[in-house]
Amino acid sequence: QRIPVGVSSCLLGEEVRYDGTHKRNPFVTEALSRYFEYVPVCPEVAIGLSTPRPPIRLEWDGERVRVRGVRHRSIEVTEAMADYGRRKGAELGWLSGYILKSKSPSCGMERVKVYKEDGHPAGFSSAGAYARQLMEQNPLLPVEEEGRLNDPALREGFVCRVFCYHRWQRLRA
Ligand code: SF4
Repeated sequence: QRIPVGVSSCLLGEEVRYDGTHKRNPFVTEALSRYFEYVPVCPEVAIGLSTPRPPIRLEWDGERVRVRGVRHRSIEVTEAMADYGRRKGAELGWLSGYILKSKSPSCGMERVKVYKEDGHPAGFSSAGAYARQLMEQNPLLPVEEEGRLNDPALREGFVCRVFCYHRWQRLRA
């Protein structure tokens, strides 16, 4: 029986990115699918954004990080993404792992660029807005980003962490 693992939908080949494309990752769809039963989530589509859609980014307004349209400045999904992340993160507590799309303002695990309102770098990075809530709701959940799965040692380490966590969940149940 395969282990339930959440995944950013675009990594499975679903055409849900802002430009209508996908980011299918062969390690995710082939090598790791032998072990994992995927539960795909695209938070941007889930909060009602269309595909294709204007791109969004993380922005520092001097007090907090917001999620706003890059060129379409009327788009702001800060609260919608935080609410969805909290709700979905709590709902997905039964998963044994999660693979996130790197660099995404929604799904990125870490090192996602944060900009000032004028478009210049804010000087620090963050997790994506959905990923942050997901990880806060599930602090023990093994999480990895797809870029790091190209490294065999990191890939093996992630699979081991998922197996251990899955076993621990079953012992606890
Ligand atoms: Fe992929 Fe996440 Fe962006 Fe959706 S929000 S397209 S799942 S990176």
